[in-house]
Amino acid sequence: MAFSADVKQELCRQPVNRRCCARAEAYGVLLFCTAFDRRQARIVTECGALKERLPLLFRKAFKLSFDQLPEPGEGKGSFLVDDPEKLRAIFHAFGLEWDVHINLAVLEEEHCRTAFLRGAFLAGGSVTDPMKGYHLELATSHYHAGRELPALLRETGFEPKETDRKGNRVIYFKHSHQIEDFLTAYPKVHDVAVIGLPDKRLGEIAAAIIQVKEGLCCTQEEIEAFCQELPRYKRPRRIIFAPVPRNPTGKIEKPLLREKYCHGRLVESQIMN
Ligand SMILES: [Zn+2]
Repeated sequence: MAFSADVKQELCRQPVNRRCCARAEAYGVLLFCTAFDRRQARIVTECGALKERLPLLFRKAFKLSFDQLPEPGEGKGSFLVDDPEKLRAIFHAFGLEWDVHINLAVLEEEHCRTAFLRGAFLAGGSVTDPMKGYHLELATSHYHAGRELPALLRETGFEPKETDRKGNRVIYFKHSHQIEDFLTAYPKVHDVAVIGLPDKRLGEIAAAIIQVKEGLCCTQEEIEAFCQELPRYKRPRRIIFAPVPRNPTGKIEKPLLREKYCHGRLVESQIMN
């Protein structure tokens, strides 16, 4: 499954920033990993990027280290926590007594849900190459998690299918658009406003004020690459990373933005160009 490996590698590029999201991602990993119960948490993976990520993730999420790490090198590696105190702390972080459930109360924020789904995919997911027909699946041996994940996904706008295979619950998608949505789950941009800015040469140019989702980072190059899809005349000439103010009814406060960014020197200092 070379394509799955590439996708996982890509997902692991997401920096481990916020503690809430580190916890949510670890939660997804644990519910879809090899073993998670009151005696042990064992994560077995072949993914090199995930092997590098797990110690960082667990340190950020629970301030703890694994009791056993895999041997360095290629192939399958096993991460283990079996210290009872550490296990207790992990279960408590998810608001669980020793039961293994998806506790929606700790996944209320959208950023945390995204992180949770990423963790679930990293530990228990696979996806076929789109050139060979799309199929994305998540498999878990945890009875409750396998039944609660589809509900979470439906609430998030997906239409997963379910089946049982070798004692595992398998949740899968076949529609390419859903798979793409899942993999890019919530693009980095939270909000955008386009305003006209005075320009000495052209009179006026379009500037995009881009508010990146909390905890994510986004470069000007990424936005420019994305805007290549647009006709040339619609592409913003300036990209400004800043909050997009909206009034209580949800309307963008453009006068406020013009006031803020149309002043020449301020524009120069705010524009990342
Ligand atoms: Zn979060």
